[in-house]
Amino acid sequence: MEVLNKDKEWEERDFQAISSQMKQGLGRRLIDSITGLSQLKKKGHKVGRLKFKSQINSIPLVQSGVTYKIINDKYIKLQGFKKPFRVKGLHQIPIGAELANANLVRKAGDLYLKITCFVEKDKKVKTGNMLGLDFGIETNVTTSYGEKLNFYLPETKAIKKASRKFNKLKKGSRNKFKAKINLQKKYSKLDNQKKDIKNKVVSKLIKENDVVAIQDESLAEWHKNKLCSKKVQHSIMGGIISGLKKHPETLVVVDKYFPSTQLCPECGKKNKHTLDKRTYNCSCGYSCDRDIHAAKNILTEGMKQVGTERINPILVESPASISKPVAKIQARLCEARSLYVLA
Ligand SMILES: [Zn+2]
Repeated sequence: MEVLNKDKEWEERDFQAISSQMKQGLGRRLIDSITGLSQLKKKGHKVGRLKFKSQINSIPLVQSGVTYKIINDKYIKLQGFKKPFRVKGLHQIPIGAELANANLVRKAGDLYLKITCFVEKDKKVKTGNMLGLDFGIETNVTTSYGEKLNFYLPETKAIKKASRKFNKLKKGSRNKFKAKINLQKKYSKLDNQKKDIKNKVVSKLIKENDVVAIQDESLAEWHKNKLCSKKVQHSIMGGIISGLKKHPETLVVVDKYFPSTQLCPECGKKNKHTLDKRTYNCSCGYSCDRDIHAAKNILTEGMKQVGTERINPILVESPASISKPVAKIQARLCEARSLYVLA
């Protein structure tokens, strides 16, 4: 192919190691992206100019068994390479999974193989549990059972140190490049931790409850508030909400104008409470922790939407399984997507 080199001259270069199937895959992906962009443009979205890319960080491996082949639990063969690659993490593929396409990905200086595989969907077992969730800044997630969960994963000291080092170094230098990769590695580690917790929490919530009710709150508005923007950013609330939305058979979304923090469940009166008041009080004598109260109200409202008769969530006893620490939750995904390190 023709490549524009450093001196801005065109020169002819050979594709090395890339098989024709990989080239086809790249071509198809390019066409798909351009089609997508064109459709966005037609819908009125702003689409910038197309630019050349100096490198590609992902190569599609379309056909399992041909473009890539799992030889055993340690080695994988890629089309166009004589020697097999030693990989880590093949045990993550569930037994009996049907392999689909894969992507060879370069990320933070490492090579990964991202394999999509299909597993039979777990049949949902009815548990009889119903759950309301309240999302907040002080406490990230409060359940109607009274459980409070916080997921605050700020940037670690190591990230801050690596970022300072990166900023000091001279632009374009070899050391700057090394520092960049180091920083990317640290960020992707944090991202993976967040993703892992998110998956485990969502899977546990969906598995243990027949109905999960949440209120459609806009995190974007919280982001605007400078005081709590960082807290929202470093938390995984957004991830949990979007993860729950992938399970419409279980999730009930209550309207965002429903006064979940104001309504008294005993007498139906609306009482306004400022954010600093952590306990909800009503003139009828009812009082409850602010967040738990909101979560219970969201559940009651959600149950109305489901069409089930109104239940009093206060009477529901907290099942022992709910209070297990989050870290111990075993995640099970319906469609598993895994990343493997190529050594
Ligand atoms: Zn009341």
